[in-house]
Amino acid sequence: MAKRDYYEVLGVAKGATDDEIKKAYRKLAIANHPDKNPGDKAAEERFKEASEAYEILSDPKKRQAYDQFGFAGVDGNAGAGNYSNVYRDFGDIFGGMGGFGDIFDSFFGGGGRSAGGSRASRGPEPGQSLRHDVSIPFKEAVFGTSIEFTYARHVACDACHGTGGKGGHANQKVCPTCHGMGQVHRSSGFFTVATPCPDCQGTGHIIDNPCPECSGTGLKRKQQTLKVTIPPGVDTGSRIRLNGMGDAAPRGGVPGDLYVYVNVRDHKFFSREGSDLACQIPVSFTQAALGAEIAVPTVDDGVVKVTIPAGIQNGKILRVRGYGVPKGRSTDSRGDMYLKIVVETPKKLSMKAKALMKQLSEAMGEETAPTPMPLDKD
Ligand SMILES: [Zn+2]
Ligand SMILES: [Zn+2]
Repeated sequence: MAKRDYYEVLGVAKGATDDEIKKAYRKLAIANHPDKNPGDKAAEERFKEASEAYEILSDPKKRQAYDQFGFAGVDGNAGAGNYSNVYRDFGDIFGGMGGFGDIFDSFFGGGGRSAGGSRASRGPEPGQSLRHDVSIPFKEAVFGTSIEFTYARHVACDACHGTGGKGGHANQKVCPTCHGMGQVHRSSGFFTVATPCPDCQGTGHIIDNPCPECSGTGLKRKQQTLKVTIPPGVDTGSRIRLNGMGDAAPRGGVPGDLYVYVNVRDHKFFSREGSDLACQIPVSFTQAALGAEIAVPTVDDGVVKVTIPAGIQNGKILRVRGYGVPKGRSTDSRGDMYLKIVVETPKKLSMKAKALMKQLSEAMGEETAPTPMPLDKD
C-alpha cells in the first residue's frame, strides 16, 4: 500500500507551524486511539499513520529531510520504529495545552494505576515494591531501636547503566507484541481490559542489542544492606515504608518501595495490649494477708516497688502507672503496667511453719463447714 504524504495524513499545509502540526496530531490521536476504538483495525491504522507522520514532522531535522527527499529522506523504519517514542511524549504534547488531565484520563479509560495518573499507565512499568520481615526483641519494640538487615533487590545494571543495551546504548525497535502500544488488550465479556504489555514492560519498544549482563532488562539483583530506625512503641504488624528502596524499574521507571514488617518477639512474662503491659505476680498467702512491699521487674530491666495492700484477694489486678509502652515517639508519656496477683498456697511446710500454721488456724477459728458460693461469672 502506498504511503500517504505526512502532511496529508495530518491534514495540514506543507508550511504548517509546529503548533498546527501538534494540534492536528492530537485531534487524530484522540479520535483514533485504540483504547477508544477497541478492535477497530482501521482506527488503529489511522492512529499509527498519524503517529508516524507526527514523529517525522515534529522533529525539525527529520521534517527538513522529508521535505527535501520525501520518504527516502527519512529512515524506512523510523516511522514505525519510533512511533512508541511519540507515544511516550503524549504527556508533553497534551501537557502544554491545559485541561490535559481530564482529557487524558477519560481518553485512556481511567487506566492510570496511580496518582501519577495517565502518564504512569503509558510509561515504563514502575519497580516492584518489596517486603522484608524483621523480628525484634520485645524491649526494643517498646523503646525503639535501630536494626541492620540485608535483602535482595533489583538495581540498575552497571554494565549498561540500566539502559538494557549492550555498552549502555540501547537500539530500540517497536515491540512486536503490542505494536508499540505498551499495552495489550484482553477481552472479558463486554469489556476490554488494557494491561501493560508483558514483553516490553509497557514501554512499547524492545532492545535490539541486549546487554549480556542483564539480558536487556537493565536490572541486576543485588544484596542491599540497610540500617533502619524503629520508633518506640511498634507492635507486631507495624509496617515501615522506605521510599524508593524496592526494586528499580526497568528502563527509567519509578523504583518501588520497601516495606519493613515488624514482628515483635514474646517477652518472658509481659504481654502487651496497646500501650499497656501486663503480667502475673505471685505473692505468698501471708503477704496477701499482712500486706507487703514487693520489688517488681519492669520492661526496661529496672525494678519498681509495689505495695500489696493487706487482705488482697487472689486474681486482684494492681495498676502501676507509667510503666507501660511509650505512647508516642518520646518516652515521656507511657502506658501502665498491670499486675495480676496470684496468691500462692505453700506446698511444703517445715515443722515449725506447720506448727505455726495450726496455731494460726485455731486463732482464726476457721470454719470446717464453709458457706458455698456460685461460680465466678468472669
Ligand atoms: Zn545490563
Ligand atoms: Zn510490548
